[in-house]
Amino acid sequence: DEAVLITGGFGFIGAVVAQRMLGAGRRIVIVDNGREVRQMRAERALRSLCATTSPRREVRILREDLGQLDLRTLLSDVGAVVHLAGRPGVQSSWGQGFVDHLAGNVELTQRLLEAAVDVDLARIVLASSSSIYGDVNQGYAAEDSPVAPLSPYGVSKASVEMLAGAYAHRHVPAVVLRFFSVYGRGQRPDMALARAIDASFGGPPFVIRGNGHQERDLTHVDDVARAVHATLTTPLAPGAVFNIGSGHPISLRRLLAAVEAVTGRRIPVEFADPSPGDPVRTAADHRRAGAILGWRPQVTLAEGLRDQIRDHTASRFPIPAAEGPPMVATPLPTVRSSISASSPR
Ligand code: NAD
Repeated sequence: DEAVLITGGFGFIGAVVAQRMLGAGRRIVIVDNGREVRQMRAERALRSLCATTSPRREVRILREDLGQLDLRTLLSDVGAVVHLAGRPGVQSSWGQGFVDHLAGNVELTQRLLEAAVDVDLARIVLASSSSIYGDVNQGYAAEDSPVAPLSPYGVSKASVEMLAGAYAHRHVPAVVLRFFSVYGRGQRPDMALARAIDASFGGPPFVIRGNGHQERDLTHVDDVARAVHATLTTPLAPGAVFNIGSGHPISLRRLLAAVEAVTGRRIPVEFADPSPGDPVRTAADHRRAGAILGWRPQVTLAEGLRDQIRDHTASRFPIPAAEGPPMVATPLPTVRSSISASSPR
């Protein structure tokens, strides 16, 4: 049974995907260089999961910048890749920030796909985004709806998708999942729902940008992880694209009210101008994923909100350093590229 490489495996989505893969009995390799509290927490949770799972699961952890690794060597040791390392966030992509989005999304994906040419992989799963559609004023975006991003971030993800298409012609088995506003335990602290929950527990007031009637197709991270798993186990044509979204857009105002209903606490709000690049509405038509991957969203908003709020309150307590028992009896060596070790980035 071949290992799955999860890049960004200590990020929000990656942490849940990694746990799911372990639960399915897969060997996993994680590359993640994040050292914020949230990634340390994810590492600690994975280590304790491994220590308590019987039979003992094998995990190899590379706390490295993916861009500094010898990718061909890395890929030769695994059977499939879930590529979640990247530069998320819409607002950070304006101005000079686009340099990071180009490097973290476009260039890094290109290097991964290039390294995969002539390597025998079953699948590379790439993380794209609903932001490639821009606004979905009415109805639901299907995979063949126009690509019309409103932000440089969306442009970077559209480019990632086009790279997958180009490398499909070179027999690289990359497929694209378009994630719609993912939420649930461990959500990135910069995301709106995480900030709203934080505001309700005494954090800074939540800033509503615009009138609050903007709608997002919120998708729970457990549903996303199941979609990733289905993508690894289903025969697919290289370059295939799937919407992974709940199909239930909700307005920001209704979302805040739903959070208040769960916590029983008011969320202090302030108003500000709309953010450039933020669509008024995102909405997923997920019928293709249903027909081909056998995937459909299962987590209700009420369940998903409880999951994220529970996690938010738990994580407010200080976290000890990520020590713990070694994951494998003999740690495997880290592969480093001698060329990139001297490169400027
Ligand atoms: P995240 O920031 O929580 O996770 C990304 C992880 O990748 C982080 O832990 C980071 O440390 C790691 N990473 C980044 N660059 C790296 C590098 N060069 N080397 C090693 N590790 C690196 O973000 P997320 O929300 O989990 O998103 C994962 C992917 O899904 C991203 O590509 C994002 O654009 C995409 N996506 C997310 C959402 C969402 O709603 N969260 C929606 C659409 C698409």
